[in-house]
Amino acid sequence: MLSIEPTESQQMIADTARQFAARVLAPRAAELDVSGGFPADSLAQAAELGLLGINVPGDLGGVEAGAVAYALAVIELAKVCASTTVAITVSNMVAEVITKFGTEAQREEHVPKLCGGDYVVGGFALSEAGAGSDPASMRTKAVKTDRGWVLSGSKLWITSGTDAGLFVVWAKTSDAPGSRSISAFLVKGDAPGVVRGKPEHKMGQHGSTTTPLDFNDVELGDDALLGEVGHGFKIAMMALDGGRIGIASLATGCGLAATDFAADYARERRQFGKPIASFQAIQWMLADSATELDAARLLVLRAAWLKEQGKLFTREASMAKLFASERAHTACDRAIQVLGGYGYTREYPVERYLRDVRVTRIFEGTSEIQRIVISRDLLRRQSAAH
Ligand SMILES: Cc1cc2nc3c(=O)[nH]c(=O)nc-3n(C[C@H](O)[C@H](O)[C@H](O)COP(=O)(O)OP(=O)(O)OC[C@H]3O[C@@H](n4cnc5c(N)ncnc54)[C@H](O)[C@@H]3O)c2cc1C
Repeated sequence: MLSIEPTESQQMIADTARQFAARVLAPRAAELDVSGGFPADSLAQAAELGLLGINVPGDLGGVEAGAVAYALAVIELAKVCASTTVAITVSNMVAEVITKFGTEAQREEHVPKLCGGDYVVGGFALSEAGAGSDPASMRTKAVKTDRGWVLSGSKLWITSGTDAGLFVVWAKTSDAPGSRSISAFLVKGDAPGVVRGKPEHKMGQHGSTTTPLDFNDVELGDDALLGEVGHGFKIAMMALDGGRIGIASLATGCGLAATDFAADYARERRQFGKPIASFQAIQWMLADSATELDAARLLVLRAAWLKEQGKLFTREASMAKLFASERAHTACDRAIQVLGGYGYTREYPVERYLRDVRVTRIFEGTSEIQRIVISRDLLRRQSAAH
């Protein structure tokens, strides 16, 4: 049964993440936001603690703690540094997708290196300049040769593109229209012909690099193919179902941190001779954020629990991501309002939370795409019931 309280082992993973975030991420988060760059050292320490393979089997180097523990850990990490957390979530997603769809040889070769930090982190290369919400319209292609495959094309917006040691890359392997023409490949970051582009200048998550990736006739062996030829789109969609639990957790963590900060500030800040927390207008903002973030957390935990039980969770993961990202964004905005002018300055972290959380409504499927996933499932179930 789904328990609202974490089990002892789930709580242990969440505590590990919380302590790591307090010790390693907190002293660097504000500076990382200003300087940008890639938090390689923090990620190496995350790997040592097992945070790059939370839901990965122990014999592949993971900590095998399950999807619920993963969600709880991501919430704790994101409360402190969304930039480092997004690299961790994508890397976990890559480790999980190889665990699920890889051959035994692929699993043994790559997953321990992802969990242990030997690849620094993993990257997920699906989007292109002309193919975002509609990845099936991608142009990157892989052509079969006697020796394997030749990969050519360009990806865009790739998280950790500057440093990831291994990417899952999606490419067309036939001219057939639609998603059956797409396959997935494992491509090392240092393979000849892989060119990492310059990081984008983003509104937030400055400590997460987001880059183009070019593939100039990259030669791959047959062992680079992940899953079967033509099954790549299905693999991407299944990976994104799990990924959306990670992004929903990340958003929830940002919202909770901003709300906690605002509540502390409201108790201290005095106007009209009283703490502003005594004004009902401030109390109601805090109450709305607390309620909505609690609901977000429950949606996240339900989706994670379904995943852990091996049940279908596509719709629930989309609901969690849609609700958590939208409500957490509002909660961060309310936190700025509670702080007034100070909230709008870099003296306090709430403006960073707002900038960092904004992209959770966009990546791994925009809010509009989540609504399509949810309504499609709802209408299918309704029609099956009649
Ligand atoms: C910081 C960052 C990191 C990212 N990391 C990665 C990564 O690691 N790997 C990766 O592969 N991708 C990554 N992405 C890409 C991300 O997943 C895409 O940006 C996202 O899927 C949206 O695609 P798009 O930007 O091309 O927008 P578009 O698809 O052009 O959408 C533009 C607008 O149109 C709306 N829209 C599109 N189609 C429909 C429709 N059918 N119905 C209603 N509305 C619609 C969208 O919701 C949106 O509001 C990242 C993006 C960012 C910003």
